[in-house]
Amino acid sequence: MVRPTITKSAEERAAATLTDAVRRAFTWDKAREMLDGLPGGGLNIAHEAVDRHVAAGHGAQEAIRWFGKDGSRRSLTYADLAERTARFASLITDRGLRPGDRLFAISDRVPELYTAALGTLKAGLVFSPLFSAFGPDPIRMRMEIGEATALVTDAGTYRRKIAAWRDQIPSLRLVLIIGDDAPEGCVALAPAMAAASARFEVAQTRPEDPALIHFTSGTTGRPKGAVHVHAAVVMHAETGRYALEMRPGTRYWCTADPGWVTGTSYGIIAPLVNRVTMIVDEADFDLGRWYSMLERERIAVWYTAPTAIRMMMRAGKDAAAAHDFSALRFLASVGEPLNPEAVVWGNEVFGRPFHDNWWQTETGGIMIANTRAMDIRPGSMGKPLPGVEAGIVRREGDAVTDCATGEIGELALRPGWPSMMRAYLNEEARYRKCFAGGWYLTGDLAMRDGDGYFWFVGRADDLIKSSGHLTGPFEVESALLEHPAVAEAAAIGLPDETAGEVVKAYVALKPGFVPSEALEREIRGLARRKLGPAVAPREVAFRKTLPKTRSGKIMRRLLKARELGLPEGDISTLESDET
Ligand code: ATP
Ligand code: MG
Repeated sequence: MVRPTITKSAEERAAATLTDAVRRAFTWDKAREMLDGLPGGGLNIAHEAVDRHVAAGHGAQEAIRWFGKDGSRRSLTYADLAERTARFASLITDRGLRPGDRLFAISDRVPELYTAALGTLKAGLVFSPLFSAFGPDPIRMRMEIGEATALVTDAGTYRRKIAAWRDQIPSLRLVLIIGDDAPEGCVALAPAMAAASARFEVAQTRPEDPALIHFTSGTTGRPKGAVHVHAAVVMHAETGRYALEMRPGTRYWCTADPGWVTGTSYGIIAPLVNRVTMIVDEADFDLGRWYSMLERERIAVWYTAPTAIRMMMRAGKDAAAAHDFSALRFLASVGEPLNPEAVVWGNEVFGRPFHDNWWQTETGGIMIANTRAMDIRPGSMGKPLPGVEAGIVRREGDAVTDCATGEIGELALRPGWPSMMRAYLNEEARYRKCFAGGWYLTGDLAMRDGDGYFWFVGRADDLIKSSGHLTGPFEVESALLEHPAVAEAAAIGLPDETAGEVVKAYVALKPGFVPSEALEREIRGLARRKLGPAVAPREVAFRKTLPKTRSGKIMRRLLKARELGLPEGDISTLESDET
């Protein structure tokens, strides 16, 4: 399972934004100086992402190149964005919304979503994006927790999912509908934008003013609403540059939906703050469409997720062979552990390896990353970025102690980076529980090797304790994915009288393979050779797909609950559920 290190050439190292010298010289104050700020010490994300560039003479540069599901395309320059976000800010302010009010958006990835996000921030309101594919209950629950003041959505979503209970959210005063017409009690966005003033002075937000509410993916339980402030933009600027190699003019594509934190931090804010030209695709994953997009648009930096990469791997190398990916210079992945197999596959198919990086909704930005100048150890999530102090610790009550090199413990971060969440909405106690011994505790288990590389082991909740061994599902799943028939894998621990727990695995097969007892034995045999008998799954079950959140994360807790006949818990973010 151990894959050889992918070493970077001297040329590649020299081309990186984050050189050793930059790393050594880094301070948060210097990172802050890369931005404009507002007079008197203020800071506003939308000003840094849009207006600043127009003021510096870059208004004519393309900011967003948008591709519709139906084949249409639109292009917005930084000047266009400045104007539209000003109109949006004017229109919500004219309708009585004030700084601190909360605007939710539930929309496909259309240009209006991006204008609304930045216009909301420009007006000093708090922006909260939700997945457009959520059903009525998850939407309602989040808008209630977030005490929504305003909503931007489309007419179909409004009629099908919101109209029935809209009046029961007393805080909700304004519903804007994308397009020319609106149902009763709502305002049509297009005419309202046309009538609104294109001049708007950006709200004088302070660095600590709330800017964003992001709900977590709900992989381990009920989603939490993480609150982020305008100061987060310092982190977005810095990590966009150093972890994702953004420079002015870079052709960049982040495939995440703004409904989860990656799609906002790195699909709206970081790219625009770094003045890239970003691709936005309204459509969801489609192998041919994605390969053509990468090729035709000459994408240089691509930020995607393991689920998508595994879907590409499932289709095989041949599907990629006819394409020219020579414009790609940096590939990154986030959201789930990236199996060593996938890193190597990227290198073969795209001529570049995927760079895994780690963060979570709570951290607001990338914390640990494989950067361009670093050699990659496939399966490792890299090293902490400049300004980030990460540790591996053991928590017993309030006492926190450091783990030794190579020992598994909880991944912890020293508070102080600018995009740290400032609260879980209405859940003060849950928030406080994340801190102990001067650390923020992430709930993820990891290990650090002698050279400072961090290795993800699993979520604390998913850890398997078998015959005295602690096993993370990632290790088991990575071994299973080495079998040529296996497209996806999930491992859980089931109670066992003698061993404490035994491992059970679920796999989905690649096209052309059919479940059989012989195949099950073969996959188990491979896992046994790779992992040893204590850790190898006792049983491998075949599934068409594995249950995942809408942000693409495998929900192991659901497999376990079903296996044990326990309640399924919060499944508001569950996507595919074909068992
Ligand atoms: P919830 O907290 O509601 O259970 P969630 O943790 O899945 O949901 P997110 O904040 O969207 O919600 O996801 C962050 C988590 O995703 C991390 O804590 C980690 O468990 C996992 N993750 C993200 N990136 C990586 C990575 N590169 N390697 C391994 N795991 C990752
Ligand atoms: Mg989490």
